[in-house]
Amino acid sequence: SAEKLDKSKTLFLRKKHVGPSCKIFFSQDPIKIVKAKGQYMYDENGQRYLDCINNVAHVGHCHPDVVQAGAEQMGTLNTNARFLHDNLVLYAQRLQATLPPALSVCYFVNSGSEANDLALRLARNFTGHDDIITLENAYHGHVSSLIDISPYKHHQLPDAELRPSAPSPDVYRGRYRADHPDPAAAYADDVRELIDRAHEKGRKIAAFIAESLQSCGGQVVPPAGYFQQVAAHVRRAGGVVIADEVQVGFGRVGSHFWAFQLQGADFVPDIVTMGKPIGNGHPMSCVVTTAEVAQAFASSGMEYFNTFGGNPVSCAIGLAVLDVIGKEDLQGNAVRVGQHLSDLLEALKRKHPLIGDVRGRGLFIGVELVKDRLTLTPATAEAQEVIYKLKEEKILLSADGPHRNVLKFKPPMCFTPEDAELVAAKLDPVLTGTGPAPFTARRSECRERSQQEDGEHLRRTCSATFTLTFLPVIWDKPVCRVFAPEAERRA
Ligand code: PMP
Repeated sequence: SAEKLDKSKTLFLRKKHVGPSCKIFFSQDPIKIVKAKGQYMYDENGQRYLDCINNVAHVGHCHPDVVQAGAEQMGTLNTNARFLHDNLVLYAQRLQATLPPALSVCYFVNSGSEANDLALRLARNFTGHDDIITLENAYHGHVSSLIDISPYKHHQLPDAELRPSAPSPDVYRGRYRADHPDPAAAYADDVRELIDRAHEKGRKIAAFIAESLQSCGGQVVPPAGYFQQVAAHVRRAGGVVIADEVQVGFGRVGSHFWAFQLQGADFVPDIVTMGKPIGNGHPMSCVVTTAEVAQAFASSGMEYFNTFGGNPVSCAIGLAVLDVIGKEDLQGNAVRVGQHLSDLLEALKRKHPLIGDVRGRGLFIGVELVKDRLTLTPATAEAQEVIYKLKEEKILLSADGPHRNVLKFKPPMCFTPEDAELVAAKLDPVLTGTGPAPFTARRSECRERSQQEDGEHLRRTCSATFTLTFLPVIWDKPVCRVFAPEAERRA
């Protein structure tokens, strides 16, 4: 067996020796995963789970081609990028071929955070400006420079004046909705206003950074034309546009390889950052930019060296991932299976008033749960309940967004129509049995945690009077949000 320790011992040692800030999935009853294959994960008892959340295992967990490419190269050579090596240049060339021609220079790094941090450095160096505009509810990484511009992790930025965030271009719940005559222009105008306000204070914009589709921010699909208009405002102010494709890149949206391309061929960012799926689980990432931005960075005189970035093993793995995406037509699969899953979820929406919205592209889909379709009151606790009940059905799903009420689908790209049907079939009765009814009055203690994408989390404890019988669901802040508004205000 792949299990080295009894589960209780694993948990004990983890609590004792591993930093507590990394939140465990299903903390009331954590899962121990010992192996995975394709879109399935297996616990220590051999129980299989359908994985709807691991976008990192892009071409499928432990894909044999990727494993083999990494193992072979590891047995041959692994060293840093100061030596000439074919893997590095071949990979840069292959990656570039997926992008518009202007985006031609790659920097290889090791995580999404590193990629975004370097993107900010490139932008500030190129423009000579300092301010970064981000989106509400954005998350761009765990390093200091990015926590500063990631409202998702802060709920409130430390110095919002210096780090303005523009409204999330969410046409379901945001300030301009589907009934607005031109939400793209309206949301872009909000960015222009932030720029104007910065200028009034004598500040200058270095960059606008956004995910091409907001993920942690609630699976938000911006209206068509939004990025073109934002880019026009930002570039007029001398800034550049950074597209964070860390979650949504590499064909996940199906119709295009990069999610920014959904906006049309007339939108080309100045810098694109990549991570997560790029190495199918192997830690690697990349920043791609224009020759002008790269040249300006080189001319600054400061050398850039990264010990692990672009090593021959990472590049071999990156090449294998691109090969598999092509060979197995995973982009086409994302179109077909994504559409099928969306159709099934739309059918559930017609049946269950708890579903307010189904949105997304390809295998990047969000299902927003609401208590009321008119007021859009977020069904936060219900979303947690759904996630927990699905886990009992051996389906792994997460809830995200600022209200933690958006069920988030981003499965490995080898997800099948049958997988989609299984999820819908299991979700149907769960939705029927989910709602305020099972909750009864009870005074309790709530450990409040904000649920976060990949483990990082803020943690604080609050006492609260709230109503709940479905105790295993108490693992997140939303419970306090919904049932104990006073506690929320205190926190
Ligand atoms: N950008 C986005 C959009 C992300 O979702 C994440 C991780 N959740 C990051 C950047 C940071 O990536 P990493 O955790 O690899 O540093």
